[in-house]
Amino acid sequence: METRRSIGIMGGTFDPIHYGHLLTAECAADQYNLDEVIFVPSGNPPHKTEQKITVAQKRYVMSLLATIENPKFDVSRIEIDREGLSYTIDTIKTFKDLYPQTKIYFITGADAILEIFTWKNPDKLLKEADFIAASRPGYSLAKIEKEFYEEYRNRIHILKIPGLAISSTNIRKRIKEKRPIKYQLPEKVESYIRKYGLYK
Ligand code: ATP
Ligand code: MG
Repeated sequence: METRRSIGIMGGTFDPIHYGHLLTAECAADQYNLDEVIFVPSGNPPHKTEQKITVAQKRYVMSLLATIENPKFDVSRIEIDREGLSYTIDTIKTFKDLYPQTKIYFITGADAILEIFTWKNPDKLLKEADFIAASRPGYSLAKIEKEFYEEYRNRIHILKIPGLAISSTNIRKRIKEKRPIKYQLPEKVESYIRKYGLYK
């Protein structure tokens, strides 16, 4: 039987997952009383087709390692196991079908919410789920507040979180440059990266 009242879906490439992702999810869960946050590593992100992305299974395992100690966090293979490009709308619809009685929030950072509404029909997306848009250093939520907030005030929730200027891109760059990445991501994830020689 379904016992959860509300869940958050946190989509991302997670290449690799870091404390920016984890803090965003934790703050969203706290602020919106979420029973669970499900991390959904993307299969084939449509906006990252030019970029070389780590094989999905490894991004999935890193997400598991990073979330394993938090009873509220879970990781889903839904996008990884789906063929073709990964679209947010398909992911939200799948979770709605799986949990019809549960309120679903899609959690993003400030950069991603701006992108999301250029990927696929924003009206359709906003009909399917509520969005939590977390602040992220270096990105402004002003555009969202201006263009969407008035019209979709009940659907887009702005979440101010303590800023962590951490990105997967920067972590990958630092590894290539043989510089430390300690305190930017969980130690278990760093061990996994070293074990498989990722991002060298
Ligand atoms: P990349 O540099 O490869 O794009 P990233 O650090 O942006 O990686 P993603 O996997 O692209 O991480 O992001 C997944 C989700 O997490 C997005 O909604 C993104 O906005 C959010 N996010 C990532 N890092 C942060 C952060 N430091 N603070 C707040 N939100 C973040
Ligand atoms: Mg990103």
